Amino acid sequence: MTKEKTNVESFDLDHTKVVAPYVRLAGVKEGEKGDVVTKYDVRFKQPNKAHMEMPALHSLEHLMADRIRNHSTKVIDLSPMGCQTGFYLSFINHNDYEDVLDILEKTLNDVLAATSVPACNEVQCGWAASHSLEGAKSLAKEFLEKRNTWHIVFTE
Ligand SMILES: [Zn+2]
Repeated sequence: MTKEKTNVESFDLDHTKVVAPYVRLAGVKEGEKGDVVTKYDVRFKQPNKAHMEMPALHSLEHLMADRIRNHSTKVIDLSPMGCQTGFYLSFINHNDYEDVLDILEKTLNDVLAATSVPACNEVQCGWAASHSLEGAKSLAKEFLEKRNTWHIVFTE
């Protein structure tokens, strides 16, 4: 398939050539004052082969968004991809890839230890009925089991 270059980095990624799970540096932006924002593609599921079910993905998002900030003050945002295969994770002034992997490992171990999902109520969440703590833990466990291959992004 031929495709034209787009305005979005991930649209130009060949999703048939990646091997999930992985953590990929997807972009770096420097501001006028020298602050640097780095964005990572944290891929849990193999594109077009598997995806996360919404309640599990949603609870994993809540848990990771909360716990990751215990391990880094440089996190800007963690958000799910619409294709339900992974998350985007952004940092400010933090460009140490190996440390990002360590932060994710600690965060996901926290998810395994969780006994409830933070903010899953109608005041703090937009779809409070759609959650699964057990589903989130099972996604975290599966991702952690492949910890030693997170840095391998592409097939040869
Ligand atoms: Zn929510």
